[in-house]
Amino acid sequence: PLEGDPILARETQMDEKWLKEILDQALEQNTYVSARHIDKKTGKSVFVQAASLHNGKTPIGALFALVPTERYQNLLTLSSVAAQGVAFVISPTGVVEVAGRSGAKENNLFYRLQQAQFLDSQSLAKLKARVQAKEPAFMRYQLQGATRLLYGVSLPINDWYLAAVVPTDFIRAQAQHLTWVSLGLFIFIFILFSLLVFYMFRLRAYSNKQLFQTAFVDPLTGADNLNRMTEMFSKRLRAMDNRAALVIFDILKFKVINDMLGYERGNLVLQRAASILRENLAEGEYLCRSAADNFVLLLHLMDRRELRGRLTRLITSIRRNCTVSESCIMVDSVFGIYELSEQIPFYIALDRARLALENAKRSSTESIQFYDEKDRRRILTERQLENAMEQALADGSFALMLQPKFDFQTHKMQGAEALVRWNQSDQGLIRPDNFIPLFERNGFILKLDMFILEKVVQLLAKWKQEGRQLLPVAVNFSRLHLNDSRYIPQMARIVDAHHVARRLIEVELTESVILNNRELAQNVIRGLHNKGFSVAMDDFGSGYSSLNVLKSLQFDTIKLDKEFLSGCEQNPTARQVIRGAVDMIKAIGAKVVAEGVETEEQAKFLRKIGCDLAQGYYFSRPLPAEEFEDLLQMVSRWKKSPHGA
Ligand code: C2E
Ligand code: CA
Ligand code: CA
Repeated sequence: PLEGDPILARETQMDEKWLKEILDQALEQNTYVSARHIDKKTGKSVFVQAASLHNGKTPIGALFALVPTERYQNLLTLSSVAAQGVAFVISPTGVVEVAGRSGAKENNLFYRLQQAQFLDSQSLAKLKARVQAKEPAFMRYQLQGATRLLYGVSLPINDWYLAAVVPTDFIRAQAQHLTWVSLGLFIFIFILFSLLVFYMFRLRAYSNKQLFQTAFVDPLTGADNLNRMTEMFSKRLRAMDNRAALVIFDILKFKVINDMLGYERGNLVLQRAASILRENLAEGEYLCRSAADNFVLLLHLMDRRELRGRLTRLITSIRRNCTVSESCIMVDSVFGIYELSEQIPFYIALDRARLALENAKRSSTESIQFYDEKDRRRILTERQLENAMEQALADGSFALMLQPKFDFQTHKMQGAEALVRWNQSDQGLIRPDNFIPLFERNGFILKLDMFILEKVVQLLAKWKQEGRQLLPVAVNFSRLHLNDSRYIPQMARIVDAHHVARRLIEVELTESVILNNRELAQNVIRGLHNKGFSVAMDDFGSGYSSLNVLKSLQFDTIKLDKEFLSGCEQNPTARQVIRGAVDMIKAIGAKVVAEGVETEEQAKFLRKIGCDLAQGYYFSRPLPAEEFEDLLQMVSRWKKSPHGA
């Protein structure tokens, strides 16, 4: 558009000044092809081809496309005509704009011809004159005993000149043959000429209406594209009294649909979804397709309940009508909503609706999400954490804490659990709950867990060297490791490298991991046992493990989830449940660790019912390694009034 910022396809990055120049040229000449240019984003050499858009007689903008110069390379490679034939598009000074493949290294054709002494200076001067005068040229020259033909013709684009060079060594250099070859070459260059002009000015071949379609309409669904919406947004919003809901629609796991059913079916799903969305629009509302399986809607702002109801009906309708009948893949969709009550830039509104959409995608229960200010803050923090995590791992900002475990019978410290903290210079120690879920989503947990293991092993090696008492240390491992065949060998390598006994490392896996895929869990536990590691189930009771599961999985230790304990003092039923769980675990021969022990009363009760080990603030908080060492030295026995709490 002439007013406002130019709309750019997302794949490109263009200099504003250059953009302005193209726009001016396109408006002036109707169609325009730029000189060769390097696209900043892709680093590719491109031509910009542009055509002006008109509303009646008034020019309103230009449509342009970045065309990689490569596209023209095939056209200019004359292998079909002659073995090493090549054509060039050159500027009046001989600068090569595009060359066929075998001529790809040339920068200036004149210079090359002169340097290689292909042409004597007289012929070269003649050629230059022809090019400058935009007149056709035809020359014949000898190179290493073979005859070459050079044919040139002026192009009606940017003073460009088309030059074709063909060796004729594939035929006997007989005059008669040469004539035929020249004629063939002449015809060929004429065709080439026409093709080049056609391709470069193809945009002109479109009618104004087609140009509009190309610029603003998504060909698959017939909906407007994001460019159009960007352009129309503020006007549409004003027409709705600046009160509207910007809604992004997304099909869950669309990639799976594409992969499993093929693109054609995928396209069909998109078309159906688009028409369902479109049919649902009320007067004044708006729909566009913004990306593969994303649609953006501008809807009247109703109260949240009403809007939710309306979108829920859409989800149902899309599931019913888009699911491909023979397949069992459900077409499930999600919505992210940003409520507008004033004019704001489109990209900001879109960004916020997108944040809400991210939440909807993540949530297992709520497929419709509204944008909240706290979402923005949360996601901002997450992005900051994500940007900082690699560096933090490198510079040692992840710290190891150890929380001791005590034996209820002997009162001795029996082991510890390794817990990670993130030491951020401005915020102090950050607890894992603030970053572990993020790292599980982005996969960074795989590195972090190994880092913590390494720290633990280093510490154990140090203790061994100092002749200290060696205690087993439990290390938490994320579910993400279970699918990785390198997990167990990698663990063994780290532990062995420091000559630490493998039995000193206890692997903690959470109950939820085991419930998700019991067979996999079973294999991993067996693999760990084979290597000599012991294995604990963490957070037992937070899910729904049955005695059967426990029996089949061969855990060495079961850790009761801390939720079990909270409030058990006042609740006899809760105490009954704990007692039952402890009995059950002991019956299958595993050790029981109670986590989150905070009071003396809890400790007494747990001891009475035969719980083996205790871990919790009542005994000790998680400690930095040095403090843990001090404690270890001081208390070999648990006394009445222990540390912590
Ligand atoms: P978790 O494995 O269940 O660890 C026990 C958590 O309970 C720890 O929280 C610990 O500080 C806390 N805790 C200990 N005693 C008490 C108590 O008496 N009362 C209460 N209310 N809490 C107590 P922390 O250190 O914040 O760790 C939270 C979770 O983060 C851990 O839960 C674990 O799931 C995860 N995590 C920590 N470090 C790592 C790690 O290196 N790798 C992986 N994958 N996860 C880790
Ligand atoms: Ca744990
Ligand atoms: Ca736990």
